[in-house]
Amino acid sequence: MAHPVINADECVACGVCVDTCPCDVLELEDVATVKDEDSCVACGSCQEACPAGAITEIAED
Ligand code: SF4
Ligand code: SF4
Repeated sequence: MAHPVINADECVACGVCVDTCPCDVLELEDVATVKDEDSCVACGSCQEACPAGAITEIAED
C-alpha cells in the first residue's frame, strides 16, 4: 500500500492534488488529506503537481 505524506504546515489548501489524483485518494478539508489510502497507486502525480512542495514523499508500507 502507498500513500502520499502531506505536510499540513506547508499545504496552502489549493486543491490541485485532489484534482490531479487519478484515483480519488485525496480530499480537501482544512488541508489536503488522504481519504482512501487503499486506492493510491503511487504514481507521484500529486507530489509533482503540488505548488507548495507540501507532499514530501509517496510512502510505501
Ligand atoms: S501518488 Fe498518485 S494515486 Fe497516490 S495519491 Fe498521489 S496522485 Fe493519487
Ligand atoms: S496541491 Fe499541495 S498545497 Fe495544494 S492542497 Fe494539495 S498538498 Fe495542499
